[in-house]
Amino acid sequence: MKYKRILLKLSGESLVGDEGYGIDPSKLKQYVEEIKLAHDQGVQIAIVIGGGNIYRGAQAAKIGIDRVQGDYMGMMATLINSLALQSALENAGIFTRLLSAIKIEQICETFIRRRAIRHLEKDRVVIFGAGTGNPYFTTDSAASLRAIEIEADVVLKGTRVDGIYSSDPEKDPTAIKKN
Ligand code: UDP
Repeated sequence: MKYKRILLKLSGESLVGDEGYGIDPSKLKQYVEEIKLAHDQGVQIAIVIGGGNIYRGAQAAKIGIDRVQGDYMGMMATLINSLALQSALENAGIFTRLLSAIKIEQICETFIRRRAIRHLEKDRVVIFGAGTGNPYFTTDSAASLRAIEIEADVVLKGTRVDGIYSSDPEKDPTAIKKN
């Protein structure tokens, strides 16, 4: 494997199955199988997972919820996905640690950069929950931030779209895939 330490950004939305919401166990399994392949090769893996399958802050205003409150709901959604992913990884025999940007003492550790790096050095898969911990950001920003902090060699992004397009291919049928 070319990379020693990677930051994997997984969208929450791609966890959605045929029911159109929530977490599809088969999608989760697919994520775990691919993560395990890289982990077995000795790659240190950190993951940021989104929350779009459960909640996005931008939806909040439409139902009369304050934007900042909505963003906190979105951050909680990333934690729900993180917990699901953590269980699925541990069921596959991979040791993990979930580090949250927002303190939730009973459920997971709080993000501390040096601690995250130590877990990675011990071959634990580290999941970063609650995004950056700040409203008005997305989990893509969280992925970039954490990648820099842990000195990852690369950020790899898993979404429903299979490459880079001139526009969003899910919305624009004329979108052109770039090589
Ligand atoms: N969010 C936030 N700050 C962050 C990361 C996420 O406020 O640092 C909120 C924001 O409301 C966002 C939601 O959490 O819409 C879910 O994250 P995102 O939309 O990035 O999920 P994805 O599209 O990857 O499923």
